[in-house]
Amino acid sequence: MNEQRDYRARGVLGGDGRVLDGGCVRVAGGRVVEVLARPSGVAEDLGDVLITPTFFNAHCHLELTAFEGRLPRDQGFGAWVRELMRLRDEAPPAELEQAARRGARRLWDTGCALVHDVDTTGAAARALLDVPIEAVVHREAIDAGDATRRAARLEELDRPLPLRAGLTEGISPHAPFTCSLELLRELGALARRRRLPLTMHWAETEEEVRYLRDGSGPLAELLPPSPRRSGLDLIEAAGLLAPDLRLSLVHGNHPAPGDYERLAAAGVPLVHCPGTHAFFGRRAFDARAVLDAGVRLLLGTDSAASNDRLDMAAELRRFLEIDEVTFQEGWRAATGGVVLEGSRRLAVWSVAGTVRDLEDLVASGRSPATFALPDGPAHASDGPSRYPVGS
Ligand SMILES: [Zn+2]
Repeated sequence: MNEQRDYRARGVLGGDGRVLDGGCVRVAGGRVVEVLARPSGVAEDLGDVLITPTFFNAHCHLELTAFEGRLPRDQGFGAWVRELMRLRDEAPPAELEQAARRGARRLWDTGCALVHDVDTTGAAARALLDVPIEAVVHREAIDAGDATRRAARLEELDRPLPLRAGLTEGISPHAPFTCSLELLRELGALARRRRLPLTMHWAETEEEVRYLRDGSGPLAELLPPSPRRSGLDLIEAAGLLAPDLRLSLVHGNHPAPGDYERLAAAGVPLVHCPGTHAFFGRRAFDARAVLDAGVRLLLGTDSAASNDRLDMAAELRRFLEIDEVTFQEGWRAATGGVVLEGSRRLAVWSVAGTVRDLEDLVASGRSPATFALPDGPAHASDGPSRYPVGS
């Protein structure tokens, strides 16, 4: 299947970030092999569209799409978590699975071709079998200091998930304040042995930072005695910053001085979720400090339970409106820095009137559709090439 195929469009985003008017992509073996400034005579016309790389959603909880619009946004994070846990415990597995399928489909329909999902119940792993999106399914682990719970979960995580091509497995220790140091160590060893990526919430709220530091604040009553170490110190002590592990951290709203520099030195990306930030009315995230420290910044939608939509174009728009970043920095965060060459999926933006600048197009409120290139080989064998985090 080495047959070559060309697709022309009103515009194609070149590797230098400029839009090539009337450009063309050349496809062979199911992936883009070249971006051409001028279309060949045989190019198939995709019409009045701009072709760009697809979005990469670096943090989501697809199963929580079930609770969209059902959780309080103005009673604080604690009330939100309590209600979420109640709803999740009561929800029938089929409902969570349906919701996860709906969420994945929504991401795919808005130009996202790869998602890192955190799966607590197993619903997303089952739902993703039926949606064409690529995903890393991170099974969540949490022990809240309970050794019995820890052992049971570790045993489960040691057994590979049944997945299709395009889906790979990962592990998500929930957060430093809900996972014991022992669990973090064991998960690091498991990730190393099974060669799995890791993703973890970190420094999302002031309350968890206080609890970890000195056992003060409202979380102290609900959790075991404080470890009296910062979240990042615990992550490091557990060996999770080791260069042979692929770890990403999520949120990082309340770092200690020097923490972003530590992430940069360890090559650990940080995921920011602008929609969740707005949902809880949090103060602005310091994206500038993250980028200036040299950290690789990525964007995620988080779940539909703390966002009003699952749409990476909307996340990018919000990020650009609120945070002090350039369009190129925002675009890199929303796509993982992927370029068209090598891609198996295209994002296709409808362009009304003249071909516009990509920045204007994003600002206009539109979202692209995802276009899967035909004749693609099964991609289970080369999954890591589509896995920007840590690569
Ligand atoms: Zn999350």
